[in-house]
Amino acid sequence: MINYTKEESIALIEALSNAKGAPGFEDEVVNIIKKKYGEQFTIQEDSMRNLMIYRKNHAGNKPIIMLDGHSDEVAFIVQSIRPNGTLKFLPLGGWVTQTVPAHKVLIKNSEGHYIEGIIGSRPPHFGGGDGQKLEDMIIDVGATSYEEVVDLFKIEVGAPVVPDTTFSYNKTTEIMLGKAFDNRLGCGCVIETLLALEGLELDVDVVGAISVQEEVGCRGAKVNVKNIKPDIAIIFEGSPADDTFMDRYEAQGCLKKGAQIRHFDRSFIANPRLIEEVKKVAREKEIPYQCAVRSGGGTDAGPIHLELAAVPCLVLGVPVRYAHTHYGYAAMKDYKASIELAVEYIKTLSEETIAKL
Ligand SMILES: [Zn+2]
Repeated sequence: MINYTKEESIALIEALSNAKGAPGFEDEVVNIIKKKYGEQFTIQEDSMRNLMIYRKNHAGNKPIIMLDGHSDEVAFIVQSIRPNGTLKFLPLGGWVTQTVPAHKVLIKNSEGHYIEGIIGSRPPHFGGGDGQKLEDMIIDVGATSYEEVVDLFKIEVGAPVVPDTTFSYNKTTEIMLGKAFDNRLGCGCVIETLLALEGLELDVDVVGAISVQEEVGCRGAKVNVKNIKPDIAIIFEGSPADDTFMDRYEAQGCLKKGAQIRHFDRSFIANPRLIEEVKKVAREKEIPYQCAVRSGGGTDAGPIHLELAAVPCLVLGVPVRYAHTHYGYAAMKDYKASIELAVEYIKTLSEETIAKL
């Protein structure tokens, strides 16, 4: 069992959160995981940059538990370069239009360097930008011509763009601030769950899946599930928190209330027998949890649960305030609770318990 201290978890999350990984451009995230854990585990990679992480003692004849975490983040892609040196762009993943402008971003140029830019906003002196559509927005790298963008900044059409946000952690409140918590927290959970199970004799094989392109339609998970062929999947998500704008009785994604067990969203209905078992484990082990019935949203559980002979899925969320913006808050307590709940549930799994689902 390798249980990370809070400091070790912070170091991992910091590296993952600061890594730039627009959908389709997850290399930096994937490389951190390969470099840090390539010795500990056997890591396979496909051409999309999906990772399959096998434990060294993978038996190959036991039921398979897939731990999924998507590696991409909501981002943008450069669509065209205008004569005045500004860049038109498209969203990669779901953004609320009004949260997009007036933030710093980083654009990857053709030499692999990241160029700072600002998503332009119209000043109040010129009437402000209320009601501005996403397709009318531009990224400004401080250039004054097309030639400058291309020749000096080496920015090309198709370049990925991510928020320019640096991770920080408040040791007193144990709250993290950063970008891409959806879903680098999930990637961290996959790694830390695998580590926590190291050396334990289990009745199942546990395989980590770092899946690309979730934000544009769960594309990586569709490939990973076919390769890993799981009997059960646990999907870790940086789920949207609602505790700062919903009534207390309605809020289902609250910071510091523990692992969020998802019952329902637009992409799947959780297996009620599995949910009961997981809640029983949480109560027995005194792991804090909260339950969510989401009116919107979806996760990799959407495609995964419909694969093979139907894969029962558990979606564990670490609530993230202001998900799908340039910044978010999340609590260390919820992150640790999600890992602990997954570990304790996996310990109960065997061919017999899985057959009852
Ligand atoms: Zn998301």
